[in-house]
Amino acid sequence: MSDKILSLIYTFSKKFADPKTKLAFEPKNNNISAIFRDGNVNIFLQVSNEEINIYKDIIKLLKTNIEQIPGVLSVNIALTSEVNKNKPDKKFKIKAKNIIAIASGKGGVGKSTFAVNFAIALKSLGMRVGLLDADIYGPSVPRMMGISKKPEMNQNKKLIPIENYGVKCMSIGFILDNEAPTIWRGPMVMKALEQMFNGVEWGELDYLIIDLPPGTGDAQLTLAQSSKLSGSIVISTPQEVALTDARKGINMFKKVDVDILGIIENMSYFICDSCNEKHYIFSKDGVIKEAEKFRVPFLGNIPINKRLREQSDKGIPILIDNPEDELSKKYLLIAKKIDEMVNFRHS
Ligand code: ADP
Repeated sequence: MSDKILSLIYTFSKKFADPKTKLAFEPKNNNISAIFRDGNVNIFLQVSNEEINIYKDIIKLLKTNIEQIPGVLSVNIALTSEVNKNKPDKKFKIKAKNIIAIASGKGGVGKSTFAVNFAIALKSLGMRVGLLDADIYGPSVPRMMGISKKPEMNQNKKLIPIENYGVKCMSIGFILDNEAPTIWRGPMVMKALEQMFNGVEWGELDYLIIDLPPGTGDAQLTLAQSSKLSGSIVISTPQEVALTDARKGINMFKKVDVDILGIIENMSYFICDSCNEKHYIFSKDGVIKEAEKFRVPFLGNIPINKRLREQSDKGIPILIDNPEDELSKKYLLIAKKIDEMVNFRHS
């Protein structure tokens, strides 16, 4: 639904051109981006002139046209005057040897839980790790990492990441207004993402793990294109509805030439306390089949685990709670696999 609406938005927008550059407003000209979420559309127009008056008519027409699209509840258009004629350059700069994005097609599949435990597993392997929570729709990393305070600024006006369990954390939730409904967040998102990279004193890192927002919208694309990603890991549950969205994620990374390091199957099965049998609640082997089809590595499966959920809510990742737990070993194994993969690619 959201892809269809975005493509309709761009169909309308390309009927209008920037009066100065004469370039139509369409993604290939790099002068428009749109986010569609819960019926609300946020559009960013990169215009060539500081004098916004000359864009008034275009904004009005664009708004009226897009409001007619079934499923659209509101349209918010923001202008920025930075002209970026080229394809986006790698403008987010950070001293990390490897930057890995953790992605999912849809929310609630365990992406943040994976990002947190994966970051801690890498730390356990002796790496210097940063964890960036870029999930604009529901930043949950601070809670899962047991972090309740907000970051402070240093003399260089850079935010100091908050460290817990040896991992440096930053969350977009720290700088987006928590009270503002998601609809108003759109215009703040791009600036906030840039601040997460360039405005944070990350120091030297072996790995920066980014917990991406779910889906394949504009924020995800900006991140994939503007940061020097070493690769991405896609999380999905085995059921078809999750896989359909995960496929879109895989295709997005392929389109923007980001390596897919592999797919993780989360919530693969549940071992019942009384019968000790595996129950495949969300279907069986969905992700491994998908990995074969797309020829991307299958990195492993993680069962539904009550303790994982409970401790995660308390801000104690399973690897900290009990490093000897089978689940902790699974996360460590995945981290080792990825580290080997990434080192192999460097060599
Ligand atoms: P997402 O980032 O994809 O939205 P989360 O990581 O926030 O998903 O997970 C959603 C909920 O599911 C959280 O309450 C989390 O504790 C729980 N959860 C995630 N993975 C598992 C798992 N393997 N077993 C049990 N609960 C899980």
